[in-house]
Amino acid sequence: MADQSNITTAALIVAAGRGTRAGSGEIPKQYQLIGGRPMLAHSVDAFVDHPSVDAVQIVIGSEDEALYRSIAPQSKRILPPITGADTRQGSVLAGLAALAAARQPDRILIHDAARPFVSTDLIRRVADALERADAAIPTLPITSTLKSQDSDDNVTATIPRDGLHAAETPQGFRFSMILAAHQQAMAKGLEFTDDAAIAEWAGIPVIAVPGEPANIKVTTPSDLVAAESRMTANALLATGDVRVGCGYDVHALVPGKEIVLGGVAIPHTHALSGHSDADAGLHALTDAVLGALADGDIGVHFPPSDPRWKGVSSDRFLADAASRVTARGGIISHLDLTLIAEVPKIGPHRDAMRKCIAEICGIGIERVGVQATTNEGLGYIGRGEGIAAHATATIRLPFRSLP
Ligand code: MG
Repeated sequence: MADQSNITTAALIVAAGRGTRAGSGEIPKQYQLIGGRPMLAHSVDAFVDHPSVDAVQIVIGSEDEALYRSIAPQSKRILPPITGADTRQGSVLAGLAALAAARQPDRILIHDAARPFVSTDLIRRVADALERADAAIPTLPITSTLKSQDSDDNVTATIPRDGLHAAETPQGFRFSMILAAHQQAMAKGLEFTDDAAIAEWAGIPVIAVPGEPANIKVTTPSDLVAAESRMTANALLATGDVRVGCGYDVHALVPGKEIVLGGVAIPHTHALSGHSDADAGLHALTDAVLGALADGDIGVHFPPSDPRWKGVSSDRFLADAASRVTARGGIISHLDLTLIAEVPKIGPHRDAMRKCIAEICGIGIERVGVQATTNEGLGYIGRGEGIAAHATATIRLPFRSLP
């Protein structure tokens, strides 16, 4: 197989249309929010971190520079935006010309910003097809019966649909070939409805790969409503399965120099005794996360009988539990820890503990709560014989990962 390491692929995202049919008033549809983010941002996201794509060129409308700046996607792979033309075809050519000057990519994937549901798999399918073809486009077989109508809504004919397919984007091409075809079409004043049509006109063979029904082009107000529903459903499937776990731990106090709680060493007349560094706070949190996953407990994963865990820092245990959430495609929404101790005072160390726990789990500090209380002098905690910790973990998992 030929060495592909020097082959570069750019994505050209066309966002220059006025596209006000989607009921946007003055705001072009590609800047309308879907799931709280502009449609264009969803389309850019799909390409910018894709392993098949090296650079992203966005073509924007001449009146939309301020709008674009307001959403300004941040990535080194995104080139400065280019201003488009009055027609889609003119805008694509402007983008291709800018890429020719800046990057000279080997391959190009041309995508309409109005298709925000383009999937990672679809981009890969088109990019991979360019290994064996000069042009590749995603298509779907047409399943509806096709009618032609006159201007008075009279049905004039039924069009045989055998072999008919609807074209989607991204459409992939050898860069130099589609650039030349676009330049020739422009020179002759010919207008086409997609880039593959220009390739066909220029004699470039085009192959089809399976498109995706979800890869809709958002055009009308009802498309925008449907897009919002789809985005919400996707978000729910992605991390909508909310689980809560509880954890509890207690360790005895023995004479010593410091207490390690919530990952923070606090100078003290005593130390906590037990397995590892005996950080009851991190142990309770670890059990809470494991409980939310229904994945055993800290003793199962790190048995006290195993000499490997003697004296180790307990951040290992919590980091392992957090990585099990990530491995399931989930996120930790919130961790809450209550420490029960007569001494030392926890308050002065609260934020240091929150920061430490947040860092171990790779989440924001605003997602970590730490509370402290005494036991009012009652029982073993009240007598200063030990320190206890309660924790809850709220995690969100993908519904798709359900067994
Ligand atoms: Mg423990």
